[in-house]
Amino acid sequence: MAMPPPRPLTQCPSAQLDWTRPGTPAAPDFDDIYFSTDGGLEETRLVFLKGCGLPENWSETERFVIGELGFGSGLNFLATWQMWDAKNPPNGHLHFVSIEKFPFDKEQLSRALEAWPELKPYARQLIQAWPGRVRGFHRLHFGEVTLTLIHDDIESALSDLDMKANAWFLDGFSPAKNPDMWAPEIMTRLGEFSATGATLSTFTVAGSVRQALTQAGFHVEKKEGFGRKRHRLEASYSGKATKFSYQDFDAPIIIGAGIGGLSLASAFLRRGLKPILYEDLSHIAASGNPAALIKPRLDLQDRPESRFFLNSYLYALQAYQDTILSVGVKHIPKSESEALRYQKLLQQNALGKAHFQEGSEQTLLFPQALTISPLSFRNRTLEAVEYKSQKLDYLPSDKTSYFIAAGLGIKDLIADWPLRFSRGQITYVSPKAPLPQATSYGGYAIPLDDELLIGATHARLMEGRDPFALDSEDDTKNIVQFETYTGLKAANMAKTSRASVRVTSADTLPVIGQTDLGHFVLTGLGSRGFVFAPLLAEAIVSHYLGDPMPIAQSVWNKFSVNRLLT
Ligand code: SAM
Repeated sequence: MAMPPPRPLTQCPSAQLDWTRPGTPAAPDFDDIYFSTDGGLEETRLVFLKGCGLPENWSETERFVIGELGFGSGLNFLATWQMWDAKNPPNGHLHFVSIEKFPFDKEQLSRALEAWPELKPYARQLIQAWPGRVRGFHRLHFGEVTLTLIHDDIESALSDLDMKANAWFLDGFSPAKNPDMWAPEIMTRLGEFSATGATLSTFTVAGSVRQALTQAGFHVEKKEGFGRKRHRLEASYSGKATKFSYQDFDAPIIIGAGIGGLSLASAFLRRGLKPILYEDLSHIAASGNPAALIKPRLDLQDRPESRFFLNSYLYALQAYQDTILSVGVKHIPKSESEALRYQKLLQQNALGKAHFQEGSEQTLLFPQALTISPLSFRNRTLEAVEYKSQKLDYLPSDKTSYFIAAGLGIKDLIADWPLRFSRGQITYVSPKAPLPQATSYGGYAIPLDDELLIGATHARLMEGRDPFALDSEDDTKNIVQFETYTGLKAANMAKTSRASVRVTSADTLPVIGQTDLGHFVLTGLGSRGFVFAPLLAEAIVSHYLGDPMPIAQSVWNKFSVNRLLT
C-alpha cells in the first residue's frame, strides 16, 4: 500500500466564535451555540451531571472516568469539577477525558468563562494550564481531578484512544449541523470504551442518535428536558458498575532513581500509591547534573511521535513547576539549513507563539522553556517514597510490578536488548562576560551563579571503558562549541567536569511498555530524558492501573518495547 504523503504539523483549526448573542458564544460554521441561553450551567447540571447519575454514582468507586465529546468552553468540565469538590468523595480520583477539534484560544476561553462567576476559581486554573490549540493529548492535573484533552477530530481521536469510561457526556453541536459527532460508528466506539454499567447523557433525542446508541449496546430513555427543550436523553451500558481502588495494588517496585524512576514514582504518588525505589548509587546519570534544560523537539511533519514531542514538553513544564531555576531559552541555529528549517517551523507554528518565537539575528526563542534543578526534583520525590540505596542484580520472575528505569544498569538486568549507550560529559567554566540566558546550539550553556555549565558531549560508549572517567578532550570540545556559536569567551575551567551515560534505541525513539516477563520498562530516552520522562511515566502507570491513557495509542505502539524483542 502506498504511504500517504507527509502532512505538515500545524495547530488545530481555531474555533470561529460569534459573540453577538447574549449569554453564549456561538459557532457560525455550525449555526449553533455552545451553551443554553436559558442558563447554561443549570442545563449542564441537569442534562449531563444528573443525566449520568452524578454525584450519586461517584460513591460506587474510588476512580471515576468521564468521557466527553466536544470540550468547547469547558463549561461541562468545570461544573463537574465544582460538584466533585463539593462532594469530595473519599480517596476519590476523577478522570475527565474530552475530545475537541476546534480548541479555543486562551483569550476565547477566558472570555467565554467570564459568564460563570461561581466557577471562577476552577476556570482560573484551567486557563493557566491551557495548552492552546496544540494538537494531540494534553494531560492536566488539578489535585485529584485529572483532565485529558484530546485536540483532534473525533474520528482520529477515537482511533487513538485507550480508556474505559464510567460516564459519557455527548455534547457535539446539534446532530443535523454536526453529523460527524453523532455517526453510528462513533457510538459503536463509545460502547467499546465503556466500563460495565456506564451511563451516558445528552441534550438531543434525535431518532438517529437513539438508534445508533441502541445498536452500540446502550439502553436509552427520554427524560424531561431543560428550559425550552422538551426532552433530553439518558442511557446506560450493559452490566453492573464495579468498584475500583488504587489501594488494592501492591506497592510498585521501581528500579532506578534517575529521571525515569523519579517520574514513575511521581505518577504513583499522585494516585496515593507509595512505591519502593531501588537505586544503585554508582550509576547516577545526567539526572545528577545541577541543571537541565526543558526545551521542545520540533518536527515539520505530523507524525504520532512529533505530536508526542510537543505534548511531552507541555506536560514537563507542569511537572517541574517547583524546581525551576530560570525561564526562557535562546537557540542559535548551527547552520544556514537549520535556520531555514526553523523558519518553516515558525510558519507552521505547531506549538503556538507563546512557546516559540523568532529572536534577533536568526536566533529562536522558547520563552517558556525551563532550566530546572534535577536535584530538587529528586529530593522532593525521594522524600515521599520508600528508598533503598541498593543495586538489584536480578529480576525475580514471580513479580509483575517491577518498573525498570535503570539507565546504564539495564545492561545487568536485561542482557541482550539492542540498546545503545552513549557517554556525555559536561564542563564548568567561568565566562569572561555573563551569558544572559540559557542558550542552546546543538550543545547548551546554562548560567549558574558565577559559572557556566556547558554540555554535553556525545560519544558511543566503548566496551571496557569506564564511562565515568573524565576526558580533557571532551572539555575542550564543549568549550570550543560554546565559543563558536555564542561568540563569547570562556576564561577557564571552574570546577571538575562530570560524565554520565545515556541510553538510546536504534531508531532513537523511547522504549516503553511491558516485557515478555511482565516487567515494565522506561528507557531509550537519549538526551531528552527530562522532557520525555514525565509523560511517558504517566503513560506507563496509567496503562498498568487501567487509567485513561495520556498518550495516543499510536505513540504507545510506536515506542513499544516489542520492537526490541522481535
Ligand atoms: N461541552 C462544551 C462546553 O461545555 O462548552 C460545548 C461543546 S459545543 C456544543 C460542541 C463542540 O464540538 C464544539 O466545541 C466543536 O468544536 C466540537 N466539534 C464539532 N465537530 C467536531 C469534530 N468533528 N471533532 C471533534 N470536535 C468537534
